[in-house]
Amino acid sequence: MKPESRRTVIAGNWKMNFAPSEAKKFIKKTAPLVAGKDACDIVFCAPYVSIDAAVKAAKGTNIHIGAENVHFEDHGAFTGEVSARMLKEVGAEYVIVGHSERRQYFAETDETVNKRTKAALAAGLKVILCLGEVKEQRLAGITDEVVGMQTKLDLAGITEEELKNVIIAYEPVWAIGTGLTATPAQADETCGVIRKVVASLYGKKAADEITIQYGGSMNDKNAAELLAKKNVDGGLIGGASLVPEKFSAIVDAAN
Ligand code: PEP
Repeated sequence: MKPESRRTVIAGNWKMNFAPSEAKKFIKKTAPLVAGKDACDIVFCAPYVSIDAAVKAAKGTNIHIGAENVHFEDHGAFTGEVSARMLKEVGAEYVIVGHSERRQYFAETDETVNKRTKAALAAGLKVILCLGEVKEQRLAGITDEVVGMQTKLDLAGITEEELKNVIIAYEPVWAIGTGLTATPAQADETCGVIRKVVASLYGKKAADEITIQYGGSMNDKNAAELLAKKNVDGGLIGGASLVPEKFSAIVDAAN
């Protein structure tokens, strides 16, 4: 049984999709489909320029809006970057940090992921912290070591109080955008490994209460089985978060 205080969170990662007008249209279409489905928190993480439109469209609904990344400095000479304070001001409540596409294409490391996480938490944002192994690491049998190390490095220096605003998204890199999904047993096992590492860092209560999502080709067909697992507390969803009916079916599975 999952503890009552552990929230299920179904979050969409729109990636580089949906300009402001499209974000608004999508939220207006999706809101009635997920209304009242309060057994989970519902979040869409939008491109920076679409956050304002998404926040306005989601006002008065049970949909929360987040960003897809954040810089670790508050302001200054960091061309092209956006700070946590700026995200707060436009109404973002969540931010994804450490997504594998950021690590892979934009050279983000556990060190910068940790700095971004700290800055976001300090500004009052909730963080969806992504980590997971690549295919070669799973084949080499070192998944547990990899996710354990990422968990420790990414959470370094974060207090137990701050941890209450952290969601971990376990995202095996080989399953993201590939149509390959971890089996429910694999997802449960690795989310369980991450929970054990959290327990070793913060104690059993914190580990029992932290939300650990699975992400990697979750969709309307496989969500129910994945979400039924003891250690899987929701999903971070890419492709299927762009289609209102698919996303709302995942929300239904969580309810
Ligand atoms: C993601 O972008 O975090 C993700 C899991 O994508 P997809 O659902 O498309 O695999």
